[in-house]
Amino acid sequence: MRLRNITGSRERIAQSSYVVQEPHKWRGRWRELFQNRNAIRIEIGMGKGKFLHTLAAENPDINYIGIEKYSSVLLRAIQKMEEEELPNLRFIRMDAEELTEVFGEGEVDRIYLNFSDPWPKDRHAKRRLPSRQFLERYDKVLKPEGRLEFKTDNRALFDFAMDELPEAGWKAEAVTYDLHHENEMLSGNIMTEYEEKFSAIGNPICKYIIYR
Ligand code: SAM
Repeated sequence: MRLRNITGSRERIAQSSYVVQEPHKWRGRWRELFQNRNAIRIEIGMGKGKFLHTLAAENPDINYIGIEKYSSVLLRAIQKMEEEELPNLRFIRMDAEELTEVFGEGEVDRIYLNFSDPWPKDRHAKRRLPSRQFLERYDKVLKPEGRLEFKTDNRALFDFAMDELPEAGWKAEAVTYDLHHENEMLSGNIMTEYEEKFSAIGNPICKYIIYR
């Protein structure tokens, strides 16, 4: 997702207390930032943040961190926090490639990827968030019993993501190719902005939950 560049968005993000300004400094110490020992769950490529904001409001005993590359998009998530402030939700503006520099070994309890950019050209496969290169990064920051959840309506990207699992040493705990008609996996589902848009036009939503 890239929104029109919004003048001053970088400056507003730099001043926002909802955005962790120097995330590398918190590596291994994120619980100090939240001032509790609750589990930390992250969404990578959060977009405007609806999914994570809803989750954080429903689960005050879990800490959530949304990671987003673009300032103009992150600004929307900040605006939502200004309307309804949540102590257990914070944001980082960065490229997910830096993940292991920002989170220590096993520091994260769960990772969410929602409607990740497909990067359709083969030569860009390693930029796809469910690629083996990214799974290797997730392996480092996710605690041993942690889980990663991925949703998309892009069947080609989902097939790619499934093929990457054995290559990277991950296993599927649950898989569906039509989440909205799979009652067990749908239970407790929180729709993302993209999920609302694409399910409304009839696209089936694929989802996996994986572990290693
Ligand atoms: N997750 C949201 C949803 O489901 O509505 C947004 C989906 S949007 C298609 C993908 C988002 O991921 C965009 O906002 C994009 O900027 C962000 N993104 C893509 N690659 C990223 C990366 N390497 N690091 C951080 N954010 C990334």
